Amino acid sequence: IPMSSVERVYSYSAVLMGSPILLKLFEDNQQAAQAVFHLIKQQEDMLTVNRAHSQLMTINHAAGLHPVVVSRPVFELISKAKTVSLMQDSCFNFTIGPLVKRWKIGFHGDTVPSPAEIQSLLPLTRPDQVMLDPQACSVYLAQAGMEIDLGAIAKGYIADRVRDLLQQMGIHQALINLGGNVLTLGTPRYGDQSAWGVGLKKPFAAPDALIGIIEVAGKSVVTSGIYERYFEQEGKIYHHILDPETGYPLDNELLSVTVISDDSVDGDIYTTLLYGMGVKKALHYLTTVPHIEAIFVTRTGQVILSSQRQFRFTLQDSDYQLA
Ligand code: FAD
Ligand code: MG
Ligand code: MG
Repeated sequence: IPMSSVERVYSYSAVLMGSPILLKLFEDNQQAAQAVFHLIKQQEDMLTVNRAHSQLMTINHAAGLHPVVVSRPVFELISKAKTVSLMQDSCFNFTIGPLVKRWKIGFHGDTVPSPAEIQSLLPLTRPDQVMLDPQACSVYLAQAGMEIDLGAIAKGYIADRVRDLLQQMGIHQALINLGGNVLTLGTPRYGDQSAWGVGLKKPFAAPDALIGIIEVAGKSVVTSGIYERYFEQEGKIYHHILDPETGYPLDNELLSVTVISDDSVDGDIYTTLLYGMGVKKALHYLTTVPHIEAIFVTRTGQVILSSQRQFRFTLQDSDYQLA
């Protein structure tokens, strides 16, 4: 595993789930790093829809045919995704698979589907048609052609499993970044710092350009944006967060949503949910979920913060303003 050391911080990196993965520790612990990357690989093998075989692909291949027995953790994750998808006005929809596969955004061969294609795929995105049997621990997609896609929740879930593993190994100060899903354990050990600094990326700028710094300790920081996975056609940007109502990329005032929470699975769920709500509705909604806090970045250069009990934010870029 590639490792680099700066100021007694040991960084380990890999590419998994099509994403750069980074682990930071405060001692050189190859064994721990190997265990972490092994765990992520195992989880990817179960949850991927980018290869022919996984527990998820077995469910998808059996759509309209028969239920598939899965492991308890996969069943629980699918149950959670179904619950969130069925919430009133939720733009989170884990049966969005057929549309994701057709758009191929972020993958080779991405093109704008015809309106007719979109209309033909929308009826296959029905979370209520995912039949769960907790006794049998089985999942059945009631229509042929349905496909589950956990892309908006799986990285968060996996980040939480990495935290569990690190804690089991007695590591209580660490940072794990699963390509936009950052989870911090405790505080950094260097200097007198009581919080980790997590950069808020500047959309459509150099990869290391930041709008500002989010300071947290022992929290998850998840960002969903339209500037990481997208393609351009005839001057229009098509990004990877799809509106389950229309089948097209969500179109509102937002460039990104960052969620600060204890569990990364919540961060992953809420970035997508809040993105779909837009700033006004999302800020109102957040007053009802006090354990979730958020940072919104808009197309007009505004940075909007919710309540800030769990984080501090420092603006660094003069192209953006705190609203
Ligand atoms: P989020 O905003 O959290 O989620 C967006 C993703 O969720 C979309 O990419 C789509 O998959 C799905 N989605 C879109 N609209 C909705 C919606 N309305 N409701 C619910 N879900 C929606 N990438 C590769 O390039 N190659 C790989 O081999 C690869 N393998 C992966 C394996 C696993 C197990 C996982 C979890 C991801 C993998 N990815 C891979 C990345 C994946 O394709 C997504 O890009 C990634 O999960 C998006 O995460 P995010 O946090 O950036 O975006
Ligand atoms: Mg995510
Ligand atoms: Mg998400």
